[in-house]
Amino acid sequence: MARRTAGPEIERLIQLMSKVPGLGPRSARRAVLHLIKRKEPLFAPLTAAMADVLEQVVVCTNCGNVDTCDPCTICSDTSRDPSVICVVEEVGDLWALERAAAIKGQYHILGGTLSALDGIGPDDLNIASLVERAGAPEVEEIVLAVNATVDGQTTAHYITDRLEGADVNVSRLAHGVPVGGELDYLDEGTLAAAIKARRPF
Ligand SMILES: [Zn+2]
Repeated sequence: MARRTAGPEIERLIQLMSKVPGLGPRSARRAVLHLIKRKEPLFAPLTAAMADVLEQVVVCTNCGNVDTCDPCTICSDTSRDPSVICVVEEVGDLWALERAAAIKGQYHILGGTLSALDGIGPDDLNIASLVERAGAPEVEEIVLAVNATVDGQTTAHYITDRLEGADVNVSRLAHGVPVGGELDYLDEGTLAAAIKARRPF
């Protein structure tokens, strides 16, 4: 039998923490020990914050984002450009784009990609609601910011077909050389895409 180093409550906390992305069993152990040592300044407010989010988190009925209000903070922000809707696969992609502060429009979260292998069809994703939003008079551009994977691109093509009737421009992210990237280290697919998408200097 494995020797236990702490009581079942602490072991259970470590075990649950180790399921958090980025934390393995070792870092979970370290994190729990850190929390126990900093009970008042960190552990107590952290559990309170977790309970608050758990209780209040909702999915935005407009865009599919997660937030503690519906419509979400982004959908209710009137300073954003209502003519652009940026379509992403997951909420994490929205957060990444917001960190880059490259686009100040609205978002739409698909909730995944089409995948024949995993049996994910159009009805499993937030595509119908996107088509509906794209039909609004103020919407002029749909930016397909999906992953450069086979499933991501299949999904982008499918959405483009579905948006045929709507009076909007559909664009997608450029594929190519990453900022700070060296050509020698790029794979052939990325290099070929970068050459194809070349622009006048
Ligand atoms: Zn929203």
